[in-house]
Amino acid sequence: MPKLNFAVFWSIVTLMKKAGKQTPPVGKRIYLDHAATTYLDERVKEAMEPYWIEKFGNPSALYKEGREARQALENARGNLAKEMGTRAEEIIFTNGGTESDNLAIFGVAYAVLKEKAGKNSSGVSLPHIITTKFEHHAVLSPCEFLGKNGFNVTYLEVGEEGIVNPKDVEKSLRPETVLVSIMYANNEVGTIQPIAEIGKLLKNHKAVFHTDACQAAGYLDLDVEKLGVDLMTLNGSKMYGPKGIGLLYAKRGVKLEPMLRGGQQERRMRPGTENVPAIVGLAEALKIAQTEKESESVRVKELRDYFIKRVTAEIPKVFLNGDAEKRLPNNINISVLGVEGEAVILYLDEYGIACSTGSACTSESFEPSHVILSLGKPRAYAHGSVRFSLGKRNTKEEIDYVLETLKGVVEKLRSISAFGV
Ligand SMILES: *Cc1c(COP(=O)(O)O)cnc(C)c1O
Repeated sequence: MPKLNFAVFWSIVTLMKKAGKQTPPVGKRIYLDHAATTYLDERVKEAMEPYWIEKFGNPSALYKEGREARQALENARGNLAKEMGTRAEEIIFTNGGTESDNLAIFGVAYAVLKEKAGKNSSGVSLPHIITTKFEHHAVLSPCEFLGKNGFNVTYLEVGEEGIVNPKDVEKSLRPETVLVSIMYANNEVGTIQPIAEIGKLLKNHKAVFHTDACQAAGYLDLDVEKLGVDLMTLNGSKMYGPKGIGLLYAKRGVKLEPMLRGGQQERRMRPGTENVPAIVGLAEALKIAQTEKESESVRVKELRDYFIKRVTAEIPKVFLNGDAEKRLPNNINISVLGVEGEAVILYLDEYGIACSTGSACTSESFEPSHVILSLGKPRAYAHGSVRFSLGKRNTKEEIDYVLETLKGVVEKLRSISAFGV
């Protein structure tokens, strides 16, 4: 396949877009990118409403307005803790998944460095971190930074199925391993990792166990005791909650240093005035997500499997990425050989369909997905990868329309020789 030239790419896309327009039969947009973000649940919006104008106080203030906000904040914290089977004091609010991941990784690393400071460490092995090749960049980038600055990092393979083998974790463990960070469910291919199993084998090791559970809240059990994790990242934007809010569960006793320094909020672990409306929204969103996870899983799984079955049968050279069973019930990630995923996205957009090439964070670069490459697939698979992530409002009627539209789009794209199959 010739190397893609950006200008040529865009001119082709523009040409194709002019070729023919058609609106969805349902007369609205079809949103299939819930792994990137979700709209706000009406019930969440309602729960947040009083805290914008009416109950606006600073939770650190001593008077009535402050006490009201404090109460809302602590209620939310208690309710979130309940959903995760833990204690309120083990929850630190942050501004989202990225910040929670950074706090987990740098927080542990700083604590290690602090302990080492002043000690003669010559001849002692560098502290060691274990993670996987297909983590979200919010985990990978901090690990890569630490890998260049005084830490050793092991990036575990995930195999063609996109699932970490606990035995590989065990084999990689060293006496100097200080942190293991493995995501609960992958954001691109949706594969679910054996967190509880890994938690069990880390029980007798001093390494801190972190999991990024941003994609899991709507479908999986978040009981931190059962999972055996010490740190867990969650955010609002993937569970029909507000954006720009997240939390880090930090088990009592885990040595963690703050990344930001300032006031005394969040037990000094995350200074700054708390985002009370968003925190209230996050608590409501998680409660709803966990209450509805079983019924919603059954519903979207049926749509998912229907989609996968038809798309792989009816469009030639289309392959599912990641294990077919051990994946989030709402995730479909396919490679369409001979086309650029971006072209498919832009074309489908013209037909009223929103989906993505995997990670929204890399959509502005033409770098192929590190997740698809980590599955050991050739680059053509990464270039042609498209992710459809289902959500609460999606219907079978929509899926049928998407499949028919996709067929036409792929046919058209493949007929353009520049992309040659
Ligand atoms: C979305 C996401 C993040 C980043 O969360 P933000 O709230 O956007 O900072 C981190 N990890 C995973 C797995 C995600 O899906």
